[in-house]
Amino acid sequence: MRRITILGSTGSVGESTIDLVNRNRGAYQVVALTAHSNWEKLAAQAMSLKPEMVALADPSGYAALKAALAGTGIAIAAGDHAVCEAARRDAEWVMAAIVGAAGLKPTLAAVERGATVALANKECLVSAGDIFMAAVARHKATLLPVDSEHNAIFQVFDFDQHEKVTKVILTASGGPFRSLPIADMRGVTPAQAVAHPNWSMGAKISVDSATMMNKGLEVIEAHHLFRMKPAQIEVLVHPQSVIHSMVEYADGSVLAQLGTPDMRTPIAYTLGWPKRLEAPAARLNLAKLGSLTFETPDLARFPALRLAQEALVTGGAAPTILNAANEVAVARFLAGEIGFLEIAAIVEQTLARVAQRKLGCLDDILAVDEEARRTAGGAARKAVAGNAAQKTAAE
Ligand code: NAD
Ligand code: MG
Repeated sequence: MRRITILGSTGSVGESTIDLVNRNRGAYQVVALTAHSNWEKLAAQAMSLKPEMVALADPSGYAALKAALAGTGIAIAAGDHAVCEAARRDAEWVMAAIVGAAGLKPTLAAVERGATVALANKECLVSAGDIFMAAVARHKATLLPVDSEHNAIFQVFDFDQHEKVTKVILTASGGPFRSLPIADMRGVTPAQAVAHPNWSMGAKISVDSATMMNKGLEVIEAHHLFRMKPAQIEVLVHPQSVIHSMVEYADGSVLAQLGTPDMRTPIAYTLGWPKRLEAPAARLNLAKLGSLTFETPDLARFPALRLAQEALVTGGAAPTILNAANEVAVARFLAGEIGFLEIAAIVEQTLARVAQRKLGCLDDILAVDEEARRTAGGAARKAVAGNAAQKTAAE
């Protein structure tokens, strides 16, 4: 039995992971499950999977969770430190599926004990890539990318001939607004932004896909995972989401991984690794699809992608600032406080305002992250006030 932990078990990736575990119950012993605040879902998962421990990041649900699991013998803890404690328990395989930089410390806690970490949380690589990858090397952890693009690249990347890889090509669906004129983007609602044409995902990554910040974050993620220079990471819009990404070699060969868009395929790859598991994704029928199409991304309509590419080239604190500002702006957009186009604008303003610096350790990153969140919050408040003034003037 493989001992596994799922960080962020109540989310989209977390639930897909549990679906795979349920299809092969005898093979896994669940060590820990963690969630932010949804204690009801966490309790239901715990009743079914019988983990040794559950952790809730938001302590306000602790009493209810404790009551729901009374008499089960499952250890219950709450608070950010409890999520890290869950990650430290001795599971050999850990799914890192917390959303945002909040996943950084717990994921590092799993890395630091040399676990096999299936990494869905891309924000920790964007925010703290150098430090994170150094920790992976130092503690001899095994990192398996879950993000479908990086999982595709991982499957066809010849790590023994790294110098013969000329570039990686990240495919992007283009999101729900792929062909929408910029003037029409101004008024799109959170509900429209989270309605992704191909993938069913959590709210934050769905908005990131709509702005194409998601692809920008993935460019930075690819840089760290595969040691590719910025110029070696290409983005290609491919609306059908069938080719999940590609690797080009020095001899001109291009290798790709294909499949229907279902996260259970890349998750199963990491759960079974180094063996392949069966996974329930619909089978690919290329004859039925007929054609696959490709476009160059439009950086004028999707400035978030440009900002992320530039942040990678700038280096230093820029990716940390970009990520933190984006998390703040996306949350404000989802709350209905700012417009869709203001997300990238706030990220750009924050990058211009927060001072660049070298990042030596985790505390440096946390300090920049906090400063960028404060600055982005200020920019968002200004945007809200500006919109209100415009509305009054129009009335
Ligand atoms: P989600 O919003 O559906 O789930 C997030 C999970 O994290 C939930 O379990 C939530 O309780 C937990 N969480 C949120 N804030 C937390 C906090 N402060 N402390 C502790 N736990 C917290 O998100 P998702 O779509 O499952 O995505 C998870 C991660 O995987 C993200 O980083 C995302 O970019 C990445 N990812 C997701 C997909 C996908 O298909 N959903 C694909 C590729 C990569
Ligand atoms: Mg992806």
